[in-house]
Amino acid sequence: MAKVYFIDVTNRDGVQTARLSLSKLQKTMINIYLNEFGVYQSEYGFPTTSHETNYLRANLELARMGVLKPIRLSGWIRATIEDVEKTFEMVPETQYLNISVSTSDQMIRGKFKGRKSRVDILEQMVEATKMAKKLGCKAVGVNAEDASRTSLPFLIDFAREAKEAGASRFRYCDTLGYDDPFTIYDTVGKIAAGAEIPVEIHCHGDLGMAVANSIAGAKGAVDAGQDAYINTTVNGIGERAGNADLLSCVMALLKSSGFAGKYELGRKIVLNKAYKLAKYASFAFDVPIPINQPGVGDNAFAHASGIHADGVLKDPENYELYNYEELGRGEPELVETGRLICSGEYSGISGFSHIMGKMEVSFTNASEARKILELVRFANVEAQVPLTQEELQFIAKYPEITKKLLTLTPLE
Ligand SMILES: [Zn+2]
Repeated sequence: MAKVYFIDVTNRDGVQTARLSLSKLQKTMINIYLNEFGVYQSEYGFPTTSHETNYLRANLELARMGVLKPIRLSGWIRATIEDVEKTFEMVPETQYLNISVSTSDQMIRGKFKGRKSRVDILEQMVEATKMAKKLGCKAVGVNAEDASRTSLPFLIDFAREAKEAGASRFRYCDTLGYDDPFTIYDTVGKIAAGAEIPVEIHCHGDLGMAVANSIAGAKGAVDAGQDAYINTTVNGIGERAGNADLLSCVMALLKSSGFAGKYELGRKIVLNKAYKLAKYASFAFDVPIPINQPGVGDNAFAHASGIHADGVLKDPENYELYNYEELGRGEPELVETGRLICSGEYSGISGFSHIMGKMEVSFTNASEARKILELVRFANVEAQVPLTQEELQFIAKYPEITKKLLTLTPLE
C-alpha cells in the first residue's frame, strides 16, 4: 500500500508570512525539532536568496554531522534554469529541491501578461527539472502553483512531463484554499492515476479547510496507488489564513475514524515531541497558540461543565479522544517568579556563566566561555528575545555552526 509522508514548510511558507519571521538560529532549531518529531522533509529555505546561504550551508553541514538526520532538507526555487544554476552556485551541496511555476490560466494571464503560454510553462518546467537532476539533485518535486484553479487535463500533462524529466513528485498547490475535501480527493486521485507519480498536497486555509483538504488529498493519492506527501506548517502558520497545521494532520491520520490504522506513514511520528515543537514555534514567531488549537491549545484537555468534568474524571475516554501525555504534555512548567538572569545582546561573563551553570553546561577554560558568550550575544541581536535553554545548549555544542548561522554579509 502507498504511504503518507510529511513535508513541513514552516521554514519556507511560514517565514514568507506577512509580519512574521524567524532568525537563522530559530529556523535551525525548527529543523531539529521537526526531525525529532519524525517529519520526513523540511523545506528549509530559499537557496537563491543571499541572506539564506550561510544558514542553508550550515544546516546541510549539520545533516552531514548526523545532527539533522534522517530528515531531508529541501530548498524552494522558481522553475527556471537560472534559479537552478544559481542554487548550485550558492549552495553546491543541495540534494533536494522543489521547483515552482504557476499553472492556472488566471496566473498565466494575470502574472505573465501574455508573455507565456501553457506550452512555455511546460517547457520551462521540464528544462529546470532536467537541469536540477543534472547538477546533482537526488529528488526534485515539481510544484504547480494555483493547481486547484488549473484545468485537470493540463495538470495531468504537467505531472506526466515532470516525471519524464526526472521529477520524483508532483506538488498540487491549492494556493488560494479554493478546494474542498471532495474536489481535492477527486482531482489528486486523477492526477496520481493519470500521471502515475507520487503527489504532494499543499493546502491553505482561506476557507478553513486546509487540514481536511490535506487529508482528503492524501487519501486521493493513496487510493490511486501513489504515495502522498502532505505539506504542513507548525501551528498552521502561513500566508494569509495559514497552511495545514502539522499536528492536526498527523492526528487526523492517526486518530480519525476513517484513517486510524488504515493508512501507513512513511516515517514514524514521535508524537510526544508535539508539544515542545508547537510551543517553540509559538515562541519563535511570537504568535500565541490559539486556546482551542487541536492537541496543544490551553483548552485542548480542559473541562468545566458538570457533565463533562464528571465524565472525564470517571474515565478520560468519555470526553477525550486522545491523551495529553501522548503529545508530551503534562509536565509542570517552571516559571521563575523571583530573580531572573537571562541572556541578552549585552550579557557579561558572570551572568552568562550563571545561566549555563544552571543547565550544567561547563567550559574547558575562560577563553572558551568568552567565545560562546560572544556568539550568544550575536544570537540575541538577531533574535531580539532571550534565548531558550536549548538554543544556548546548541550554541555551546556547535559554536562553529552557530558562527556560520550568525554571519550575514550583505553583498556589494
Ligand atoms: Zn503555500
